[in-house]
Amino acid sequence: MSAILRYGDAMQTVSAALMPIPGHIDPVPVPRGVQPRPDGRVDLIGLTKDQLREALLSGGMELKQAKLRSKQIWHWLYNRGATRFADMTDIAKAQHPWLEERFVIGRPEVVEAQVSSDGTRKWLLRSADGQDYEMVFIPDADRGTLCVSSQVGCTLNCRFCHTGTMRLVRNLTAGEIVGQVMLARDSLGEWPSQPEGRMLTNIVMMGMGEPLYNFDAVRDALKLVMDGDGLALSKRRITLSTSGVVPMMARAGAEIGVNLAVSLHAVTKDVRDELVPLNKKYGIEELLQACADYPGANNARRITFEYVMLKDKNDSDADAHELVRLLRHYDLPAKVNLIPFNPWPGADYECSTPERIRRFSDIVFEGGISAPVRTPRGRDIDAACGQLKTAAEKKSRAQLDREAEEKFAALG
Ligand code: SAH
Ligand code: SF4
Repeated sequence: MSAILRYGDAMQTVSAALMPIPGHIDPVPVPRGVQPRPDGRVDLIGLTKDQLREALLSGGMELKQAKLRSKQIWHWLYNRGATRFADMTDIAKAQHPWLEERFVIGRPEVVEAQVSSDGTRKWLLRSADGQDYEMVFIPDADRGTLCVSSQVGCTLNCRFCHTGTMRLVRNLTAGEIVGQVMLARDSLGEWPSQPEGRMLTNIVMMGMGEPLYNFDAVRDALKLVMDGDGLALSKRRITLSTSGVVPMMARAGAEIGVNLAVSLHAVTKDVRDELVPLNKKYGIEELLQACADYPGANNARRITFEYVMLKDKNDSDADAHELVRLLRHYDLPAKVNLIPFNPWPGADYECSTPERIRRFSDIVFEGGISAPVRTPRGRDIDAACGQLKTAAEKKSRAQLDREAEEKFAALG
């Protein structure tokens, strides 16, 4: 029983994990936890190889068996994408019921799935305890990028971001984070893991939530994603986006080591304080210094600075020149991603005009820094981050079920 208890303890640690209350710049921690599964079974998704072995031991399996079986099961889960013990052909049939009694192989429940005319797919997912979060897949000619959520909602309240307006917030577990990647693989038919010819080639931690406010789970999930025996995505193809949680950036570099994206969005204190309230705590200079110190950043692996284009707010020529000055001052191996603002009902801002965005891009480019304009994708399905969840809340459950079925039938 000991390891189940140990796993149980881990669950309790998650439950007791301190979550900041939305609306505070310096968040006040309150507990908001994951509910354990009602049937008492343990979900194996999200466990490391060692934790998986411990889970088997805790069920009463003998050590030598547990060592062997954990390796086999881990391979079935992350390399082959198995969702049933019955499919694990090298595990004795007699052991299948024993495993089924104690463990599940979870996937997030799909509440709604949408496909855009440009091929972008968006899913609204639901956790076992009824929390909704989003995932988006963006196919391109030479790659396919999965945008993964780290939290349900977000505590940081950036003024232009719809996710920041959601009241309900909890951290996703490592299993729920890696579970998004696994669900996407299911849907794209990309099992077993193979090095070549994948549709899903890149991952960005740019869905709902602030990944560096859920550090441990994000790290553990990305380690599973990067494991060469399992999902096997290279760290060079994974990008973590942060709004600027400065004290966690060095740890992200050291313990995860993926590419870094920083949501800068403004070059003056006043404007960034308004757009990204966390700026009142960790200012632009401090943030850029943390970027300069980020391990592994060099010209081959540049830091991406995200800059949402907001009409008459942060899009002047002077802003563009100041952006160049700042990035050069800190000698940053940088690339700027200009994101046309994705409007949502009730937003305080408008998107800059295409001419303004082009001019801004040219100035930054002339300053020696690449500044592509990100093409909006999936605008015909609910667009900006957080919108799918809100739209779905207005629909009945039955209607959502019907739509999900139809969409998945269409996906083939
Ligand atoms: N919390 C992290 C990652 C999730 S947000 C962060 O802030 O970096 C991912 C990116 O989408 C961020 O750059 C964010 O600023 C941007 N974003 C959020 N809402 C947007 C909107 N309505 N239009 C355009 N970009 C938006
Ligand atoms: Fe949170 Fe990122 Fe949205 Fe800001 S932009 S509210 S940090 S998800």
